[in-house]
Amino acid sequence: MSNVFYRSRKPYPTAVSAGGVFIQDDQGRSYLDGSSGALVANVGHGRTEVAQAMAEQAARLAFVHGSQFSSDVLETYASRLTGFLNLPGYRFWAVSGGSEANESAIKLARQYHVERGEPGRFRVVTRVPSYHGASLGALAASGMGARREVYVPLMRPDAWPKLPKPDPSLSGEADAERLRALLEKVGPESVAAFMCEPVVGASDAALAPNAGYHARIAQICREYGVLFIADEVMAGMGRCGAPLSVRLHDPQVTPDLVVLGKGLAAGYAPLAGVMASAQVFDTVMNGSGAFKHGFTYAGHPVSVAAGLSVLDIVEREELVRAAQERGKQLLDGLRALQGRHPGVLEVRGHGLLLGVILGDPATGQPHATPGVAERVAAAARDAGLLTYPGSGALDGVRGDHLLLGPPLSITTGEVTLLL
Ligand code: PLP
Repeated sequence: MSNVFYRSRKPYPTAVSAGGVFIQDDQGRSYLDGSSGALVANVGHGRTEVAQAMAEQAARLAFVHGSQFSSDVLETYASRLTGFLNLPGYRFWAVSGGSEANESAIKLARQYHVERGEPGRFRVVTRVPSYHGASLGALAASGMGARREVYVPLMRPDAWPKLPKPDPSLSGEADAERLRALLEKVGPESVAAFMCEPVVGASDAALAPNAGYHARIAQICREYGVLFIADEVMAGMGRCGAPLSVRLHDPQVTPDLVVLGKGLAAGYAPLAGVMASAQVFDTVMNGSGAFKHGFTYAGHPVSVAAGLSVLDIVEREELVRAAQERGKQLLDGLRALQGRHPGVLEVRGHGLLLGVILGDPATGQPHATPGVAERVAAAARDAGLLTYPGSGALDGVRGDHLLLGPPLSITTGEVTLLL
């Protein structure tokens, strides 16, 4: 009998090793990692240079507590990351995972307004559907019924007003104006922040608004004194073919807080964080002088060393451009498959964050009950391909979907094999 608390009753294979875009199990089977786990393994598996950087860091300085020290590796990384993301003057708050990072962003937004003398601002507007994390604050922010339904009694729903998902039939600007209407309805003086995934991940398979949406959102937030938080945990760090997905169509957009995770250390170590604008940082530091928040493992030097080594690889191998090129190859190939397969209703996405919307081949409509994506993903896994299934049925999303997002280092031959 196993002593591991598995996520579900279904049996999982036991992984023993991985290299490039493949993972091997203890039965000698090999799987093509078509989803980078959960869109994490951006530089592929088995990079010994990352392992070496971590080992050297662990031997030199494995841990210091964030209330006592910064570290040289964290200083270097924060500066490199600010350059890579083109966020000059921003400050990097490092944590261990995306949920922690979103909790940090939410609490920072709240404290920012308290420091400015507006303690009435506590609401955070988010969207349905959305996924911002599994911890209670990040889950309350999320609009994803399948992951939050059971826990709703532990939340305070009026603190998290929900905006409908982007509507591709509207212009980006008209779509974003719906935020203004919601702010007016709930009372803008009670709102601390608006948070969204610029390209939606797990809850609505790579859905993105039209050009102009994020620029108008940023403008509305500014008008109402509301902070704009971009949750780039899944879509950022090059995955969508740009360092930040919020700038895919609107290159001038500068959110107040940018939340990062997953691809930061690409799975080699737990690493996530928040990029905070100078205005937010200065307001807190010139006010009470301290962000009243912290985690024991925040800015862990070994995780940060992994992140720095991964960033070296992303820049040296030009993986942001690779995500554009391999992403186009995969998108074109999937669209060709769509033509031959009536069970595929839509294929969409940016770079190597792609969504395949599934439906009933007989009717060409979404399935009435969810669960088909899980079954397709299980069949794909049995055939040696890993995908990331999902359903937004509880949130009014049409149909089940699969997310595809192999490592950005995937080769053209491997994309052909995946297809
Ligand atoms: N935000 C987004 C957009 C995500 O996709 C996820 C995870 O899937 C999270 C936050 C939560 O990150 P983590 O699972 O690392 O806590």
